[in-house]
Amino acid sequence: MVARHDQTTDPDLLTALLQARRGTAFFARKLNELSDADLDGPSLLAGWSRRHVVAHVGYNARAIARLIEWAATGVETPMYPSPKARGHEIDFGATLSPIALRNLFDHAAVHLNVEWRDLPADAWRHQVKTAQGRVVPAAETVWMRTREVWIHAVDLDNGATFADIPAPVLARLLADITGAWHTRGTDTGLIIRASGPSGANGDVLTFGDTGNPGAVTVAGDLAAVAAWAAGRSADGATATTGTGQAVGVPAAPSWL
Ligand code: ZN
Repeated sequence: MVARHDQTTDPDLLTALLQARRGTAFFARKLNELSDADLDGPSLLAGWSRRHVVAHVGYNARAIARLIEWAATGVETPMYPSPKARGHEIDFGATLSPIALRNLFDHAAVHLNVEWRDLPADAWRHQVKTAQGRVVPAAETVWMRTREVWIHAVDLDNGATFADIPAPVLARLLADITGAWHTRGTDTGLIIRASGPSGANGDVLTFGDTGNPGAVTVAGDLAAVAAWAAGRSADGATATTGTGQAVGVPAAPSWL
């Protein structure tokens, strides 16, 4: 019998699935606000039209669904045959008719949701491999997708901003990005400080080269700092030297 609800009962995983589903709904809303002609316009990503973004988000759902099938069956199925194939697929998808492009996004999102819903509780621990070659439990795919749908909804460039992204998603995103910088050592001389969004608790998140008194601190509210760290926008972020002098906000180190 087909399950009508999630097989997992892990509360953290159910919360994570909710964020992914909300992000998918948000992306769908921003996409549906665009006319077919609007799809031809540029996205926030250099060299990509909105068509490329929609195609990428659709194919990303298919790729993540392959990982869930892998977790369910034990039969290894990579996200993409190769980075080159992934790029070709996006370029091809961007040429689809508007209706086909919209169907690609919708159907891929529904299919992924069914794969997640029907994955047996114990299979969420099974190991799969990301496109970057990281071996992760199947549960990690929920975050991988969450990140994609929320950020790329902003990339559609029709009004969404990082302030629309839920604070827990922004906090994890910022931790991911600054963690990647730290691993590569690209955060040398840089401190990152994000304050809680207004209305939420006043927690301050601090990352980077915190032991360096000469470091430049980039600060702002969580949405502004996450948008800066993701390379999308420096609006609302400020930068100061170790002695408290205001300076121009530096470009964020690359992330992916
Ligand atoms: Zn992406």
